Amino acid sequence: MKSIIVLSGKGGVGKSSIAASLAVVMSRNSKIVCADCDVDASNLSLLFGLTTDKYVEWRPLSTNQEAVVDKEKCTGCGRCTEFCYFNALELEDGKPRLKKFGCEGCGVCELVCPEKAIKLVNIENAYVGYARSREGFFIASAQLQPGNSGSGKVVFEVKKKAMQIGMDADLMLIDAAAGIGCPVIASVAGADYAVLVIEPTPSGYADMLRALEIVDHFKIKKGIIINKHDLNKRFSEKIESFAKEKNINVLAKIPFDKNFVTAMTCMIPIIEYDKEYEPVFEGIRQKLMASLARG
Ligand code: SF4
Ligand code: SF4
Repeated sequence: MKSIIVLSGKGGVGKSSIAASLAVVMSRNSKIVCADCDVDASNLSLLFGLTTDKYVEWRPLSTNQEAVVDKEKCTGCGRCTEFCYFNALELEDGKPRLKKFGCEGCGVCELVCPEKAIKLVNIENAYVGYARSREGFFIASAQLQPGNSGSGKVVFEVKKKAMQIGMDADLMLIDAAAGIGCPVIASVAGADYAVLVIEPTPSGYADMLRALEIVDHFKIKKGIIINKHDLNKRFSEKIESFAKEKNINVLAKIPFDKNFVTAMTCMIPIIEYDKEYEPVFEGIRQKLMASLARG
């Protein structure tokens, strides 16, 4: 199975809207499965009208641990509070207490406790599951619980789920989180092609360069889509010049269109909301498939 990842250095550029429409157009020609790897703010399935109550499966997931103190064994020496880099423990009535949203599960407190009074236990820090779109393909998704960490491991579980439910699929379409952090790195690893969605602004350009560093680290083929290209002609041309200089394929230039927002509000991919986008996304699909076929 080949995998295509849609990512963007910054949020709000239309990445998930574009990923949803790419999924629709690709599903007409290939058997696909989607993986929504934006586990902090998963919304790919929402663009298909799928809230979690409509999922086929939605279950708790544990990819992280948390410290638990045995107050009987604890002598209140305070070593754990002293050594916790994340300042997640505080003394209360002479015994350590875990602060809400503080523990990163690093295990240092367990190592330094002379009484073996503190240990790590698995916690349910996310939900994972999948839904079926009206177009017929499956979307694997997960949501990190508020204030929890371990997003990279949760992304790994989403991709694993997508492999399971899309065993007979030819193509996995991955919607990554915005930015360049741990969940993005976990999403990009192992992909065959990266589609970078960029908006022509100073921050859009700067964040594109940072996202490209990750893509290039993994030596993945890439192309860019300049979204809202007519909002800033100077930066749009700057991005195109950069792409030409670096031999990066410009897959499409999409103008600013309020229909993107309306389609999102109606929970319908833009390609289904406005048929004028059919040739745009079919063009992107053909370029992507040609590039994947070249190996
Ligand atoms: S596991 Fe790490 S972060 Fe959590 S309380 Fe212990 S030392 Fe602090
Ligand atoms: S290091 Fe162990 S004994 Fe000391 S305060 Fe922490 S839990 Fe209690």
